[in-house]
Amino acid sequence: MSAPPQNLAGADNNPNLIVRGKRVVTPEGERPAAIHIRAGVITAISSYEEIPAGFAIHDAGGLVVMPGLVDTHVHINEPGRTVWEGFATATRAAAAGGITTLIEMPLNSIPATTSAAAFREKLDATANKLSVDTGFWGGLVPGNAAQLRALWEAGCFGFKCFLVDSGVQEFAAVRECDLREGLAELAKFGAPLLAHAELPGPIDEAIKQRDPHASPRAYKTWLASRPRAAEDHAIDLLLRLAAGYATHVHIVHLSSSDSLPQICQAKTGGTRVTVETCPHYLTFASEEIPDGATHFKCAPPIRERENRDKLWAALADGTIDMIATDHSPCPPQMKNQHTGDFRTAWGGIASLQLSLPAVWTQARARGYSLTHIAKWMCATPARLAGLENKKGSIAIGRDADLLIWNPGAAFRVDPAQLHHRHKLTPYAGQELMGTIETTFLRGKQIFERGEFPSAPSGETLLRHKL
Ligand SMILES: [Zn+2]
Repeated sequence: MSAPPQNLAGADNNPNLIVRGKRVVTPEGERPAAIHIRAGVITAISSYEEIPAGFAIHDAGGLVVMPGLVDTHVHINEPGRTVWEGFATATRAAAAGGITTLIEMPLNSIPATTSAAAFREKLDATANKLSVDTGFWGGLVPGNAAQLRALWEAGCFGFKCFLVDSGVQEFAAVRECDLREGLAELAKFGAPLLAHAELPGPIDEAIKQRDPHASPRAYKTWLASRPRAAEDHAIDLLLRLAAGYATHVHIVHLSSSDSLPQICQAKTGGTRVTVETCPHYLTFASEEIPDGATHFKCAPPIRERENRDKLWAALADGTIDMIATDHSPCPPQMKNQHTGDFRTAWGGIASLQLSLPAVWTQARARGYSLTHIAKWMCATPARLAGLENKKGSIAIGRDADLLIWNPGAAFRVDPAQLHHRHKLTPYAGQELMGTIETTFLRGKQIFERGEFPSAPSGETLLRHKL
């Protein structure tokens, strides 16, 4: 490599740190490179050998250097339900998992982030607790359309809604009339709407038709109660509304592969729709989930092996844009582990710290590259939140959020090594590929081989202060 360094501000702009390695994943692909960092920002990217003398060098050698992951779907539940999770524990787990940016969901905290006053409470609750940079989605619920602009101006990146019962009473589901009112408002200032896309009708129908002798401990009983049609019909409605209001709609945690043709068609026709799926839909298959294993319960549910294969194909062809965890933990007793009853167990999977190895283990076996991972888990999520000029890629002018990891190292998931508040996870005991060695946040080392070498230095990300 003999290309001259690409400098942002001329030759006198000396970096104060260089992170270099033989396998640096840039938007142009994987190559040996040296990343020049000044005041936490990437100021130049040069060849591996070409570095100014006298500056601190962190050499990753043959390990992979990738952008820190951006996870846009995380439930931290603080304030109000901090016995479920919290900013300190979740963001430490993120740092240990190579995630440097989180966008937090507006529900499960009390209050839910559905007004500017509630948002202020949320921001106050983050003080001195953030190990990684953290932004926020606001919430769209029935009757709060008049609050949306204030939330947007206070710094939220967009708005989340549920088309079906959310599981908590502070965050009611929207009907079509609420969606229309909300989208008309969001269209005025160009904010995206994120939707939990399941409609209650097909779910009620499936429950009505349930075999009265079906075991509540059987995973297939839970799966049958959340049919693909609930997602497919909700997505059909959302696609029509996105087109009608010319507003960006983002489908969170897609599970039903039956929705893929209609999403593909809408995208081709110019509808502004993006789609995420989650590590658990890409990893597990319903046929393999044991009876009573309620730690696998989430909504929409993990579906069949054949469905999982179609989700992977849709990531590859761009119908699904990105991956986010939907990390949604709760105290273990709420998972009914003693009875294994799926009906009343809390639905939500804890996976924040494990998202990269979980996805990589499957991606690698299916022939995908590190460049795919950086697109699905770094660059595209950053774009969803409007952070593409600051986060999600190794490029000049971006924050020096970097992850150094070994994609060839296997490990067995030991819940004791997880930094989530609660350790219950369906990944426990699984052998995964990819160990996180070092995480840098804006040029500062925040995680190093199991240790956190500095006090929490994450910042709140506010849309108007970018
Ligand atoms: Zn969620």
